[in-house]
Amino acid sequence: MTTWLQAWTPSDGAARVTALFTSSFPELGDGVGGVSAPSGVWAAPGRVNLIGEHTDYNGGLCLPIALEHRTFVALRPRTDSRVRLVSGQTDQAWEADLDTLIEDGAHGWGTYVAGVAWALREAGLDVPGFDAAVTSCVPFGAGLSSSAAIEAAVAVALDQVAGLGLISSDEGRRQLVEACIRAENEVAGAATGGMDQAASLRSAEGFALALDCLDNSVHLEPFAPVGYELLVIDTRAPHSLNDGQYASRRATCDAAAARLGVPTLRHWLDRYDANQTDLAVAEAMTALTALTALTALTEETERHRVRHVLTEIARTREAWSLMRAGDWPAFGALMDASHESLRLDYEVTVGELDTAVAAARAAGAVGARMTGGGFGGSAIALVPEGTTAQVAAAVHEAFAQAGFGAPAFLVSRAAGPAGAVTVPASTTS
Ligand code: ADP
Ligand code: MG
Repeated sequence: MTTWLQAWTPSDGAARVTALFTSSFPELGDGVGGVSAPSGVWAAPGRVNLIGEHTDYNGGLCLPIALEHRTFVALRPRTDSRVRLVSGQTDQAWEADLDTLIEDGAHGWGTYVAGVAWALREAGLDVPGFDAAVTSCVPFGAGLSSSAAIEAAVAVALDQVAGLGLISSDEGRRQLVEACIRAENEVAGAATGGMDQAASLRSAEGFALALDCLDNSVHLEPFAPVGYELLVIDTRAPHSLNDGQYASRRATCDAAAARLGVPTLRHWLDRYDANQTDLAVAEAMTALTALTALTALTEETERHRVRHVLTEIARTREAWSLMRAGDWPAFGALMDASHESLRLDYEVTVGELDTAVAAARAAGAVGARMTGGGFGGSAIALVPEGTTAQVAAAVHEAFAQAGFGAPAFLVSRAAGPAGAVTVPASTTS
């Protein structure tokens, strides 16, 4: 029996989170109908990255889509600087004061929320304290970016209640992305790149987000793989980006770039790749660049890490062209190559991810790879339409054979970005 994670509809999510808000803050009983009511409900998606992994913090390219699975927030501003939070995913209510958040050494899940308000204030914006409830159908710690989803949902909520006006333009959304990144890096203490927040805030329904992390420019590329479906496999293997593995990969890349005398590894690639005109040349250049970089780096592990980053950026560029051309079998082959590079060179896969990918391929997927930071989390497979259930069953069976716990599955189209779900006019103040 395979387990499927369904996305909540906007009205279902709004009803759940409003009920949680109302029951958690009963003393705010001056809303519509005498019960406590939030100023509105906002939601933001989780994401899967199609290709381009561990490239964001190296100034590279990535190609995520927003998921139909979202985190919902019901929020109401306060007249002071306090933040009070409840979540449908944990029993632990959370409280802090924005004025003293850092000095007080705030920790726990609320840092992903209060951190966004803190970062907006750091950027000079006038953001009040607030009461909020959150709840989500994005699985927690599954590599589908529940962290960026909670941050982005709060960011758009605060944008609206504080009248910042940032969500109405891509430039404004970019500022919200920055606040979410600062919240995650500096307040929650997770050294993640910027892909997740950009995917949640700057994508568009029906499009993949081609994100160039060198200058944070985005290009929206239609994502409609005719004849195929995107199967997401949540391995449910324990996953943590806070345990130092992610930070250590990041530190290795930073040190390698410093040794090569460039600000990021992307700059190194671009030295050789600047005038590329077609893919065959790009591939040759990538090989050359990789080799040159490798000889300049004396330590074997470091050479492998760098090789992954350089080749992954080249693969992502090529995958983007293949997406535009609608060549999904060739796109799938690059997904496979990406996984192998993450397994052998970057060493961020685990048995569950490798098993999911191998079983999906054997059951007919045209491509499969881990997605997100790795060390657990999720894999994706591009499967011929009509075979999704069968591929999922094969993965489920392979997990049982290997003695792993049962995985969970979801399918998603490319969904829209963070925004308002309901904003009752009577309570927006
Ligand atoms: P991922 O982003 O892949 O789901 P992370 O480890 O980056 O995994 O982020 C998960 C963390 O984000 C959780 O441990 C929790 O602190 C916070 N979080 C995300 N969603 C929620 C939620 N709905 N309620 C409470 N905390 C959440
Ligand atoms: Mg995360």
